[in-house]
Amino acid sequence: MKTGYLIDMDGVIYRENQLIPGAADFVRALSASGTPFLFLTNNSAPTPQDLAVRLEHLGIAGLSARHFYTSAQNTADFLSETDPGCTAFVLGEGGLHTALHERRIANDAIQPRYVVVGEGASTTEKLGRAHECIERGARLLATNPDNWCPVSSEKTRPGAGATAAYLEASTGRRAYYLGKPNGYMFHRARRKLVEITLSEPEQVIMIGDTMETDIRGAVEAGMQSFLVLSGSTQLEVVGDYVYQPTRVLQSVGDLTDEVMTGRESDRRDSPVFTQGSSQLPRSGQRHQTDVLALHKPRPRPAMTK
Ligand SMILES: [Mg+2]
Repeated sequence: MKTGYLIDMDGVIYRENQLIPGAADFVRALSASGTPFLFLTNNSAPTPQDLAVRLEHLGIAGLSARHFYTSAQNTADFLSETDPGCTAFVLGEGGLHTALHERRIANDAIQPRYVVVGEGASTTEKLGRAHECIERGARLLATNPDNWCPVSSEKTRPGAGATAAYLEASTGRRAYYLGKPNGYMFHRARRKLVEITLSEPEQVIMIGDTMETDIRGAVEAGMQSFLVLSGSTQLEVVGDYVYQPTRVLQSVGDLTDEVMTGRESDRRDSPVFTQGSSQLPRSGQRHQTDVLALHKPRPRPAMTK
């Protein structure tokens, strides 16, 4: 069966400027076997070219802008498809400005149709301007719902979801969130995967490390989803979620042989589980209020919704 992969980056390919062991071989196997793949990220700050350069510095060469799809591109696609010729006041970085420019969406700080919030630090002055634009009728849109993003294992920074929440509070208007887990991100990414490979994979699998974005979005878009434990999610919390991944893997390195041989493993579990089935989340213990879950610290919400 011809399989295509949508692959999250942070926590799947690298973490804190370090490649995850096995990730480079996995990407090489994808290229060598002609397997369709596309990197999918909620980070709207970098351009696809920036991401290709970043991976090259980390040791994965031979990628170009067409191998990436960001939430900034997803937002620009959404606006150009639903409201061609619209204008926007933008709070964001180069990746978002470039994506909107490529879709001919003009910057407008006077009477924009939309206020678009992306990743990156903003100033009080720009937030004030965005607030005024929304009060005058501009619609509020965010590239992704992440409230915070990891900087290192010890450190996080506020994400686009937090900036959008600020404007939701000040204006009383609700934002619309593109990026994962919005189904529009997954449908558009699947379409791009077909366009760049000039073939229709029989199945598309999302690989990610975050339950709320990667796995939830894939489930809602009707795709298979593989959770890797090399990033933000620990095995013991997986059972807390209503939606579940198709497979749980230690890292993308677990898939390299399958990609090279083209033979899908007949096991739906992972080598992770052979280390002791006692680690498996048992069904019936999935609810947050279950007694056994009470010892767990309640995590900060990754998204506003
Ligand atoms: Mg991730």
